[in-house]
Amino acid sequence: MRALAVHEDVIVVVSGVWQTTCTAVRSGDEGFVIDSPILPDELDALPALLEQAGFPVSGLLATHGDWDHLLGKLAFPERSLGVGESTAKRLSAAPGEPQRRLREFDADWYVEGRRRLGLGEFQALPTPGRISIGSETVNELEVHPVQGHTGDGVVFWVPWAETLICGDYLSPVEIPMISGESGGSLEAYRETLFRLSPLVNRSATVVPGHGTPLTNERALEILAEDLAYLNGLTAGADVTLPDGRRSATQKRVHEHNVASSPSP
Ligand SMILES: [Zn+2]
Repeated sequence: MRALAVHEDVIVVVSGVWQTTCTAVRSGDEGFVIDSPILPDELDALPALLEQAGFPVSGLLATHGDWDHLLGKLAFPERSLGVGESTAKRLSAAPGEPQRRLREFDADWYVEGRRRLGLGEFQALPTPGRISIGSETVNELEVHPVQGHTGDGVVFWVPWAETLICGDYLSPVEIPMISGESGGSLEAYRETLFRLSPLVNRSATVVPGHGTPLTNERALEILAEDLAYLNGLTAGADVTLPDGRRSATQKRVHEHNVASSPSP
């Protein structure tokens, strides 16, 4: 697990597995933890790491309902979890699903020492909407709806840090992943990239759900590569995967995308 300060009020922790990111955002005496690292020792280390860095944790947030982003309660069991309205619906419709997927992952990778994941009473955030943070200097996090990777999700825009926390979009290590079985769709994914582009333009830092934080220039490059990839998929063309994202795993993701996209 690596911890990177991208702004005085934003720390990003990158998990040793899938480079899943977890972002701590603070404003004065309040702070949120968005998404989560994966391994038990990473989750155990998180409270002390944030305390030493002076990042209070008033609540937990998640970009979407895939299990690998929902583990914050294992580090901060007393804090409640806020998710976008679409994610709240998804989680309510399939209770126990993240826990089941987590158990499968742990069994596959012989991971031991996991506590039981209870998501508790998660809160549905108004989407689009704003969340106030801090009691003296009050700042606001913006919540914007996104869709395409799955049928649910939000991105968080941190205006005072010019940081976009964008969940499973704009990853430097993963090609666009269209999870048809979780409501993802190629067309929605493309629309999301168009809608994200003004936010990416305004940002100093973009934190993808998987991979290290990106500069504005790199995020814009990835956005263009991802759009080109999706356009190729739509046209049914022989698609070349973007540079640096051509591993056997990414080729399998591509095969899966082809299978779940409508043929032209
Ligand atoms: Zn993910």
